[in-house]
Amino acid sequence: MARFDFLVIGSGVAGLSYALRVAEHGTVAIITKKETVESNTNYAQGGIAAVMAPEDSYESHIKDTLEAGAGLCDPEVVEFVVKEGPERVRELMSFGAEFTRQNGHLHLGREGGHSADRIVHAADTTGREIERTLLDQARAHPNIEIYEYHFAVELITEHHLGQYVSRLRPDVHCYGAYVYDTQTDVVRTFLAKSTLLASGGSGQVYLHTTNPDVATGDGVAMVYRAKGRVANMEFVQFHPTCLYHPEANSFLISEAVRGAGGLLFSQAGERFMPSYDHRGELAPRDIVARAIDDQLKQRGEDYVLLDISHKPSGELREHFPNIYSTCLGFGIDITEQPIPVVPAAHYQCGGVRTDHFARTSIEGLFACGEVACTGLHGANRLASNSLLEALVFSKRAVESSVEYAAEAGHRTDVPDWDDSGTQHPNEWVLVSHNREELRRVMWDYVGIVRSSLRLERAFRRTNMLDEETEAFYRDSRVSAGLCELRNMIAVAYMIIRSAQMRRESRGLHYMLDYPEQLEEEKRPTLV
Ligand SMILES: Cc1cc2nc3c(=O)[nH]c(=O)nc-3n(C[C@H](O)[C@H](O)[C@H](O)COP(=O)(O)OP(=O)(O)OC[C@H]3O[C@@H](n4cnc5c(N)ncnc54)[C@H](O)[C@@H]3O)c2cc1C
Repeated sequence: MARFDFLVIGSGVAGLSYALRVAEHGTVAIITKKETVESNTNYAQGGIAAVMAPEDSYESHIKDTLEAGAGLCDPEVVEFVVKEGPERVRELMSFGAEFTRQNGHLHLGREGGHSADRIVHAADTTGREIERTLLDQARAHPNIEIYEYHFAVELITEHHLGQYVSRLRPDVHCYGAYVYDTQTDVVRTFLAKSTLLASGGSGQVYLHTTNPDVATGDGVAMVYRAKGRVANMEFVQFHPTCLYHPEANSFLISEAVRGAGGLLFSQAGERFMPSYDHRGELAPRDIVARAIDDQLKQRGEDYVLLDISHKPSGELREHFPNIYSTCLGFGIDITEQPIPVVPAAHYQCGGVRTDHFARTSIEGLFACGEVACTGLHGANRLASNSLLEALVFSKRAVESSVEYAAEAGHRTDVPDWDDSGTQHPNEWVLVSHNREELRRVMWDYVGIVRSSLRLERAFRRTNMLDEETEAFYRDSRVSAGLCELRNMIAVAYMIIRSAQMRRESRGLHYMLDYPEQLEEEKRPTLV
């Protein structure tokens, strides 16, 4: 049993920036299920949206965010995130993050949906720079202990103390987490006065995704099982442009390539975006992703082409070194030829519902980063607003969790993890098969364009997978693969049910049989 003042689940931008601040108030454990850098953060390319140029304004960033969110943003949240953003970016620089500069000033990129240049970036590997900076600081901090290969299995709540919790009127507290040490094969109890969930998104629920393998929605699933409130799960953002190559594992071609003048063409060489939206290639992501999906379906093709080769080659190599070298590795020279691209699941806009200070509906549990639904993104995230959101809310979470921890003690009556009667599974094929089946069902039926019929089909299939997996789980000792599968099924269930509840098309949620946006549906979806 390990005891800390603060437990942090996840080592991306949200978890690390929170840990660094909260460590001034007590002892901190960061648990992370693989090596520390493995996170969505590490793969972020474009950058952080923040008003840093004199010719830009808060009003304009607020307006762009609200417009993308299609009526579901919390305007108060949008305002404070935009206004607090520049200060958080400057702090990151004071920690040692080095962002791209031009003539002594920050170079600010432009991305889809933004009406000004405001993307702070480190060439096209911004996430790697942020992760490196924060990790260096966290590793050096005397109050922080980092546990790699530690997988959070369940949040510890009244349920584990044998108390009944009603789903209708839940009064739940979080006392820490049961954590599986994947290297020693033991489930350990981590007790904390306050727990921060910063476990990121769930892109792995879909067959094609830009997210790394760790993004299986564990945090949202744990909160759902603990009877906490989850919102807006139907709003899944699909990135329009991932490299189409059998070996590329959905490598992202950043929005910044379109911001820099990249144009989209069908394989027949026809530029198609202007006929879908007057902003052309710089329309918000959902519009571009749907346009590509439509082109692919109309033409029966597997990919479209993104061409930036008309720009000077030196400029491309300087601004997009990672994209340039990765594509070259697959035999595509972006300075001379177009890049074959397809859409892929990219960002979870919904998640664990929080208030303005990252408090969840479970006492003692706070959430920030991609796992949280704070009200910033509404029905669609504006590009590069997520790193910003994580930075702003991780600071706010410190304020509320320090206040909470000052009053809370450690529970002393938490039982050890009980795995009596279980055994090591010898039917691993169930886990791998069900994982692949789930991802395909979600891609085919709950993807960019949905319909009531497809959702109903997906619901039936997911139910079957759930029954099989739960039966297997009850008899099996804990393993990371099996836990991830359970979590992915829970997330899929929440996405499908939320999508069924929303009988309209809004933001990222597009329904063939409800193509209009309706005033009476303008509310968050709660599960
Ligand atoms: C390819 C790509 C490009 C992107 N580009 C941009 C961009 O340019 N700008 C922008 O704003 N956003 C971008 N995003 C989105 C952004 O990177 C993420 O939303 C953000 O980094 C999320 O940070 P986080 O700390 O919430 O989660 P993550 O960075 O994903 O970290 C989650 C952490 O939780 C750990 N974890 C998960 N489950 C468990 C568990 N059960 N037990 C223990 N640990 C667990 C993971 O291992 C990981 O360490 C991009 C995302 C991707 C995938």
